[in-house]
Amino acid sequence: MEPCVTQMNYERHFVPRGADMGDWAQLEPLFDKLEQRSLNNTDDLQQWLLDTSELSACISEESSKRHVAMTCATDDPQKEQAYLYFVEEITPKCKPRWQTLRERYVASPARSKLPQPRFTVYDRSTTAAVEIFREENVPLQVEEDKLDQQYQKICGGMTVQFDGKERTLQQMSRYLREPDRALRQQAWEQIVQRRLQDRDAIDEIFDKQLELRGQIARNAGFDNFRDYQFRVYERFDYAPADCLQFHRAIQTVAAPAARKIQEERRESLKVDPLRPWDLAVDPFNRPPLKPFETADQLCKGSSAIFHRIDPELGRQFDEMIQKGWLDLESRKGKAPGGYQATFDEQRRPFIFMNAVGLHGDVETLLHEGGHAFHAVACRDEPLVQYRHCGMEMAEVASMGMELLAYDHLDVFYKSDDLKRARREQMESIIGLFSWIATIDAFQHWLYTGESQWLDDACLAPSRATGNAGGSSAGGDSAPALGVARDTAKHRVARTAAWLRLMDLYGGIEDWTGYENSREALWQRQLHLFGVPFYYIEYGIAQIGALQLWQNARKDKVQALRQYREALKLGGSRPLPELWQAAGLTFDFSQKTLEPLIRAVSDELARL
Ligand SMILES: [Zn+2]
Repeated sequence: MEPCVTQMNYERHFVPRGADMGDWAQLEPLFDKLEQRSLNNTDDLQQWLLDTSELSACISEESSKRHVAMTCATDDPQKEQAYLYFVEEITPKCKPRWQTLRERYVASPARSKLPQPRFTVYDRSTTAAVEIFREENVPLQVEEDKLDQQYQKICGGMTVQFDGKERTLQQMSRYLREPDRALRQQAWEQIVQRRLQDRDAIDEIFDKQLELRGQIARNAGFDNFRDYQFRVYERFDYAPADCLQFHRAIQTVAAPAARKIQEERRESLKVDPLRPWDLAVDPFNRPPLKPFETADQLCKGSSAIFHRIDPELGRQFDEMIQKGWLDLESRKGKAPGGYQATFDEQRRPFIFMNAVGLHGDVETLLHEGGHAFHAVACRDEPLVQYRHCGMEMAEVASMGMELLAYDHLDVFYKSDDLKRARREQMESIIGLFSWIATIDAFQHWLYTGESQWLDDACLAPSRATGNAGGSSAGGDSAPALGVARDTAKHRVARTAAWLRLMDLYGGIEDWTGYENSREALWQRQLHLFGVPFYYIEYGIAQIGALQLWQNARKDKVQALRQYREALKLGGSRPLPELWQAAGLTFDFSQKTLEPLIRAVSDELARL
């Protein structure tokens, strides 16, 4: 039987019906009960795991509900208050209680007798979380978060005077698509000048974060923050060596393909050389694609695409429409952006976005739709931890859906527009790989000092010499973090490392006259400040998504069946097994990447 979204029978067994998950007085006794229960035999332990999961799902749902309500109406102070109360009063009280429960699990004598492989993934995650936890790191992590908030505040406060008005940098980005080259150069210059004004302040924040992170890792018994963070992210199924292989593959096959696309862009724009302000504009100076007018049209079109991909997925999406589990149109008072949220207790998805009629909106809804299908597919899994999975798989569901939809974009576009939408999709896939490698390699170098991440073995001589980076970083290691180090010296070394990576993976655009901006380009990548090492997941997932796309071209029915089988597993199996279930190979070496890049390039040649 197909899972039916309406079949709602996930009643509370442990948490009292009607208990308010926003009231600590009602939550605390539930944590107390779980802490006190005997876990001496496997039946007790398994029931305890189910009850713990239920409590976790109920609390998570309360948080999601309040977050969704706030983002749908940011101008409603009560909704904001309700959300803030939850994150400030409830979440911090729950946190140490969850840690205690994890410790109880690890200490349980029945743990080793739990059925395997059913509990393998749960066990390795929970054990790792207990092993790396250190009380003395709690205040350091708060400090780290505060520094990230300072960074966000600095970036959020950046505005420029342009075209007679004060504008945020986000608002400025539309001028980078302006066909008038002089105007977009002017806009680009204002943006980068404004960023440079805060370069030192951001460097200072980052210096402190590097120091703190080194300390956190050492406290937890790790040699460096990279190895610590790999454990935090539960990267059990791949290692830094696999990332290095991935970088090499990108350097060899994806970066040259991206430069070729830029070369074509340069020719169609009829400019020489291509400059940094020529990268976002349509290469034929056409106005933006207009796939739909109203949110209703977006819904209907997407539904038609999902039905064509798989009638059951189409039905699930229609049900989301009927139930009002989508809030799509942009309106005053709505938070920016788009996301898919899962209500963990009801086990159902919700999609939020700000559609204004652009191609990006179609991409977003197809993407979030993939996440929603994932949530529906694994809803009968009893453990909430297994109803979620690592990003390396979660984004295969969503990025894969974008690619499965590729052949059905004619729902929104005709003739030349259809070609253009497809071209944009293919080009952005190739372009993203290089940036992912740049950001990831930079972090490996920052936190380990290993020179292999800057290796220039494959660097063509003409590209190596053209850079104004100053001192060589290639053979040097980053000054060890944590030991008293010369901050100024470290900043020079990290600038040189960054420039080297830009040469290894970067594009053909000419930065002459703007060298300072090129040196500081990493400062706008917010992941480096808020979620270190989190980024390569998108590259890994894209490899999976591209394989899925290729599989569907060979055998649509089988590819869809495997896709849905894999989604059904949620996060209950290790990544290589989830990928295998989806018909994909969990490997990021050149052997896997090369044919995929070739397929995208061939597709581009056909368009
Ligand atoms: Zn996503």
